[in-house]
Amino acid sequence: MTPGNAIPSAVDIILAHARRERWKNRWLTIGEMPFSIRQSSLRTYHNCKRKAFYSLVAGEKGGLRPAYFIIGSMVHYVLESMLKHGSRPTPATLELKLDELRAEDEYDLDMTNTEFVARMFDTDAFYGMSLMDICNMIVVWLEAGGYEVKVSEKRWDVVVGNVAFQGTIDVLATRNIDGRVYNIIADFKAGGIADRFLGKGSCKAVSYRDEEVTQSNQLQMYDWAMYRLHGAKAHRYAYITPVNLVPNATGKNKGKPRGDLMFDQPAVTLDQLLSYEDDLFAMVKEIEYSRIHNSWPRLRPEVFGKLDCLRCPHKVACLGIRELNTGGADVGTGGVAHTNLPPHLRGVTLT
Ligand code: SF4
Repeated sequence: MTPGNAIPSAVDIILAHARRERWKNRWLTIGEMPFSIRQSSLRTYHNCKRKAFYSLVAGEKGGLRPAYFIIGSMVHYVLESMLKHGSRPTPATLELKLDELRAEDEYDLDMTNTEFVARMFDTDAFYGMSLMDICNMIVVWLEAGGYEVKVSEKRWDVVVGNVAFQGTIDVLATRNIDGRVYNIIADFKAGGIADRFLGKGSCKAVSYRDEEVTQSNQLQMYDWAMYRLHGAKAHRYAYITPVNLVPNATGKNKGKPRGDLMFDQPAVTLDQLLSYEDDLFAMVKEIEYSRIHNSWPRLRPEVFGKLDCLRCPHKVACLGIRELNTGGADVGTGGVAHTNLPPHLRGVTLT
């Protein structure tokens, strides 16, 4: 140990470095990893391992992506421009962004880019407000609430051995509460606006219980990444829900926002974050098991007792198209032969 202010010896420096890097040791035991680990890839893997195989390992896109994905991406893009550059994108820039998104994925969206952008500026879209107005209000609201945005749309990468973690933090901000400055990791949740934007329904308010914010897997993963990359730990987590700014169209609350814009809660403690890291390690070990044993079972996920496979982009490749004769003798005798899989996917262990 180096006493007082003495210059640390080479041994001290090496030991200090080893202590800082010790957390990596167990991760270095993991072999080749078939895909980068994002919160969404973990979610897919635990939702259905076969789905993870199709989309993350084989790179199959499956069917069209639902339109709400592209609407969410555009909301993120507009907010990023406003927060980073202090100006909202022009219609021409928005069309370019749409071109870019549509070149990457095919969406179930029956609108040209010009129509889409016009809708973004259309004040009829959200009962007197446009999508651009909503984004603008969020930025004003953050400023008025004392949130100082330090970084927006920040991509991070934690690479340890063969494992590459990735993510994008929507907002890293500080906030002064009673003289103390807190770090906040926040994420935009653009859900609830798609149906109304597409003219197919109304808006659905979104809310989070306190623990749903503090215990959020996604926000803990971002916090963990910041901690491992920079040694900095968030004090608070938050979800920001644009849809809640849309005014109620009827009833006694007509004209008032549908709910709170921001759900801002304490972050987990450092001990809890390290416990999250244990869970993350266990999850990645499970993926390693799937890779080594070529085991990607169909988990047939359900949501509230309903088969979620019906929304899966890989359902035809996975389950085939069955026409059950419910009155006939063939019920229960057929099934899908593995030969229904595309040739390059045959041979995958079907368990
Ligand atoms: S159709 Fe169902 S079982 Fe098959 S990959 Fe999709 S979610 Fe999994």
